[in-house]
Amino acid sequence: MAQRRAGVVRVLVDMDGVLADFEAGLLRGFRSRFPGDPHVPLEQRRGFLARDQYRALRPDLADKVASVYESPGFFLDLEPIPGALEALQEMYNMPDTEVFICTSPLLNYDHCVGEKYCWVQRYLGPQFVERIILTRDKTLVLGDLLIDDKVNIQGLEATPSWEHILFTCCHNQHQALPPTRRRLLSWSDNWREIIDSKRAQQE
Ligand SMILES: [Mg+2]
Repeated sequence: MAQRRAGVVRVLVDMDGVLADFEAGLLRGFRSRFPGDPHVPLEQRRGFLARDQYRALRPDLADKVASVYESPGFFLDLEPIPGALEALQEMYNMPDTEVFICTSPLLNYDHCVGEKYCWVQRYLGPQFVERIILTRDKTLVLGDLLIDDKVNIQGLEATPSWEHILFTCCHNQHQALPPTRRRLLSWSDNWREIIDSKRAQQE
């Protein structure tokens, strides 16, 4: 394991569902594009992939919902999650704290990748564009904390360096977690305390 500076907490922050409101944007886009089709209200969302839930609702809806998040402008037009931008700027300015955006692009990456960069530039500024890590395998990234709304994050590294903090989102809010796992309910929840506790563990 690579050595990092003692006392420094490196925080990896996911983008969709944590900084950018993917689920609200998806539902809005789906309803305006397919007004005659049934949809899944946010309070009924279950499971990480909207595509799977739409497929279960009716098989042809899987491709329809995917066409929404694969269309140009979708990622760029996502609204920030409440409090996310302020929290990231504060984290950026905290002493002995390194913050990175760690996000997995779609496999159909044509619009997604460029628009994610534009979104970060627009809402967080150029200092965060320098801190974007795009990867399909977050277990390979070194950090102390990963704040992410996906319940199961797996990859080649069986024991990632970071502790995964589950960010609450419509699709995971009913999911029971083992007692060892921690959640961040929203950006008004105590993310500072989570960083402090990580720093204390290092000392
Ligand atoms: Mg996410």
